[in-house]
Amino acid sequence: MQKSVIHLEDIRKSYFLGKNELPVLKGVSLDIFKNEYVALMGPSGSGKSTLMNILGCLDSPTDGKYILSGHDVSTMEDNDLAGVRGKEIGFVFQQFNLMPRLTALENVAVPLIYAGIGKKEREEKARLMLERVGLGDRYKHKPNELSGGQCQRVAIARALVNDPSLILADEPTGNLDTKTSIEIMDIFGSIHASGNTVVLVTHEEDIADHARRIIRLRDGVIESDRVNEKKEALLKS
Ligand code: ADP
Ligand code: MG
Repeated sequence: MQKSVIHLEDIRKSYFLGKNELPVLKGVSLDIFKNEYVALMGPSGSGKSTLMNILGCLDSPTDGKYILSGHDVSTMEDNDLAGVRGKEIGFVFQQFNLMPRLTALENVAVPLIYAGIGKKEREEKARLMLERVGLGDRYKHKPNELSGGQCQRVAIARALVNDPSLILADEPTGNLDTKTSIEIMDIFGSIHASGNTVVLVTHEEDIADHARRIIRLRDGVIESDRVNEKKEALLKS
């Protein structure tokens, strides 16, 4: 049997504002297997980011079970969760979330500090990752000296630096023009080709067409989950 990287059972998530409960995820169950490339789509407010934050162990579900690479993370304490997150997951955000005062190299090296790796090795690894995303010559630049596309490359390098098996990206091209979006999607394509599992949120059909499987959320439940016929046809041609 294939091993699930992500196994969700009846995941529910509500936000509480005072006494008011806002149910956002209303029972999401799914499996994502090793080296899948999944696009998560759905209207604004349907719960995509809420689900991604749970998948990324940045937030906990209100109810339900989440097994990540064999670890039951739904019952884990924050400290253990941070450890699993650091080892297993690389997260890419729409807004890049880089540290403005740090250089590209220093930004990419941040996860390695938490992993307890020494300075020299950190710099070597971060350098390699920047080269992998085509930014080998920009390592000394700070985020405000880089274009949006370059900032997103730095963020992708940071997500990859700990060699996580699962890459999660929440609207990674949402702030980028079409040409730059295509370049960024090429990078995700090569990440997938090198054996990673990729889950990416987008509301653009063109971007979703890079994925092999498309899951659509609506009002906090999975509306559809199917193979991307267009991508399959392309791969067979
Ligand atoms: P999507 O990413 O699909 O646009 P979100 O997961 O961001 O959707 O949001 C789903 C719903 O949850 C929205 O109604 C949003 O306003 C609400 N929401 C998201 N985050 C929070 C939060 N931290 N506190 C309260 N409500 C939230
Ligand atoms: Mg969102």
